[in-house]
Amino acid sequence: MNNQFIGFNKPYLTGKEYEYIADAVSSKKLSGNGKYTQLCHKFFEEKYEFSKCLLTTSCTDALEMAAILIDIQPGDEVIIPSYTFVSTANAFVLRGARIVFADSMSINPNIDADKIEVLITPKTKAIVVVHYAGIACDMDKIMEIAAKHNLFVVEDAAQAIDSFYIGKDGIKKPLGSIGHLAAFSFHETKNIISGEGGMLVINDQRFDKRAEIIWEKGTNRSAFWRGEVDKYGWVDIGSSFLPSEIVAAFLWAQLENLDGIQNRRKQIWQQYLDGLKLINNIFQLPNIPNYATNNAHMFYIVCNNLEERQSLIQSLKLHNIHAVFHYLSLHQSPFYKHQHDNRELPNCNLFADTLLRLPFYYDLLDSEQQLVINAIQNFYN
Ligand SMILES: *Cc1c(COP(=O)(O)O)cnc(C)c1O
Repeated sequence: MNNQFIGFNKPYLTGKEYEYIADAVSSKKLSGNGKYTQLCHKFFEEKYEFSKCLLTTSCTDALEMAAILIDIQPGDEVIIPSYTFVSTANAFVLRGARIVFADSMSINPNIDADKIEVLITPKTKAIVVVHYAGIACDMDKIMEIAAKHNLFVVEDAAQAIDSFYIGKDGIKKPLGSIGHLAAFSFHETKNIISGEGGMLVINDQRFDKRAEIIWEKGTNRSAFWRGEVDKYGWVDIGSSFLPSEIVAAFLWAQLENLDGIQNRRKQIWQQYLDGLKLINNIFQLPNIPNYATNNAHMFYIVCNNLEERQSLIQSLKLHNIHAVFHYLSLHQSPFYKHQHDNRELPNCNLFADTLLRLPFYYDLLDSEQQLVINAIQNFYN
């Protein structure tokens, strides 16, 4: 029996964060879009060949920018998986969209691409996909449907940094580079963190200029700083979507260590798999389709029913282990259930009842991880 509490998440620090923050502070450039913001943009544009990136104060904000950019109007319909975080939907609801919730696949919580087309109406404007646990959605199929019906695709890539989709043509594309727009999160529960933080990726150059304006409170200040205009003013709607240099400095310390962070996380992920696969016939382990890679964002198991998950959580708690579940189906949420049509979304509800996330963070010791594995094995024996 371990007396040490094994938490669900612990933010990892590379050690360089303080140094870069001190540098940002002493340089007296504290607001956004300075040296560290640009280092971060360049990093992503070079490593993943994203054509344009803008750091934001959260993934939620990046999604709100996406909703403005694709010009969501009241009454427009947006197709979104019901098994996701509230921000995926809220960003579009804020602009007056009606959310049409889609079901998950049975093999994993991602949106079921085969069930999207029946949801499309003349009012449909966009499909928002969520790469749950950093595992790609079936993007070839989804992009094909979107092209056929002239819809935008927004990738909620909050969990999907450094993960890829392998297309039918065999080409490996980074998640976040496939839809028209994509949103990443650097919240402290994600692989790469800045406390609160996010990024919008713009893959369709039609949005480049306007994205910068919306990012800078509806002004053309970015163009002004580049010397492209001789004064800046109010040219569009917008908000304060860019983070301060202090946040960007923190993020830069993390990005410099991205490969090291990812390697350790993948090792932890593999150790969970190796430790639990022997009892895999009793519950389900994550399913990674052939078209997807694993970025080790999380490790989850799928229990057989809600009661089993509750007793497993309790049993782990007695071993001082904190395992958590999430999402409650958005189509059944107090806020939106009255606007949802009566369609049932059984796979979504199933994951909402049975998915359990295990402690997962860089500093998790092998010995602690073994305790988690043992506790699960004991429970199922
Ligand atoms: C974390 C997360 C968000 C929100 O990210 P923030 O940076 O906290 O706004 C949105 N969608 C998904 C799928 C997430 O996992």
